[in-house]
Amino acid sequence: MRVTRRRPEWRVTAIARDTYALEQKSPYAQCVDYLLVGRDRAAVIDTGLASRGALRSVVTALTDRPVDVWLTHGHADHIGHAGEFGAAYLHEADRPVQAAHSDPAFLKRLLREEMGAALAAVARPVVRRVTAIPPADYRWFGDDQVFDLGGREVTVVPVPGHTPGSVCYLDQATGGLFTGDSCCDWGVLLHLEFCLPPAVYLESARRLLGLQRAGAFRFNWPGHHGFPAAADLPEQYAACAESIADGSGVVRPRRHHAVVRYRDVLITLPRTYLAQPVGRR
Ligand SMILES: [Zn+2]
Repeated sequence: MRVTRRRPEWRVTAIARDTYALEQKSPYAQCVDYLLVGRDRAAVIDTGLASRGALRSVVTALTDRPVDVWLTHGHADHIGHAGEFGAAYLHEADRPVQAAHSDPAFLKRLLREEMGAALAAVARPVVRRVTAIPPADYRWFGDDQVFDLGGREVTVVPVPGHTPGSVCYLDQATGGLFTGDSCCDWGVLLHLEFCLPPAVYLESARRLLGLQRAGAFRFNWPGHHGFPAAADLPEQYAACAESIADGSGVVRPRRHHAVVRYRDVLITLPRTYLAQPVGRR
């Protein structure tokens, strides 16, 4: 008899004291979530894309503290398993994003438009799993939010752009900044529904660069791709967004969006930017 063993969906890596990266590797999602453990409580930063596996069992193997969820933004590949835990905290500006990304009809349209016919088959299992997990107990916060896990304070840094309520989480204890989709290797998407204009993201990128230069964080822990992300990404994204604002960046068409590159990174824009005068950006 041949025994096949499925590879675990979540891979755990200790990245700092009481801090773990939880990599979700499924056919549909390559996400990185994080677990922060304090004296009294623990928090999971982002919860991947809804899947058959349970994130909760991965987390309870690492801590016996009560676990909250802190979300970097409301996209489906970040909120998927939030309903398996206690309260799920999200910036109030992402209420409409979270609502849309929990709606099967919206997700089907998004997947079809973004991925095209070749990957349309992906939509059905993804949507089925999104609707199979109970909805999270959402709690909404504003721009000035600090969490305390017990001897471990974590400050919210608003970075609107990728979504209106995108945030990073600044963990002074370990010098880590958890950045979601706002500062990862490869690119930042600003062409999707609910994305804000690049001028708004430029301010967010400058905020991250300012924090980095002030020594507030040493490690950028992103929601996708390599972790930690390259140290000079805040600088590259600020320069890339700046080049869009001042018109020096070349806006190139792609099938579903437009792209501006700068060194190792890119920013996507709606195709309408191809025809837009520089002063209107
Ligand atoms: Zn996202």
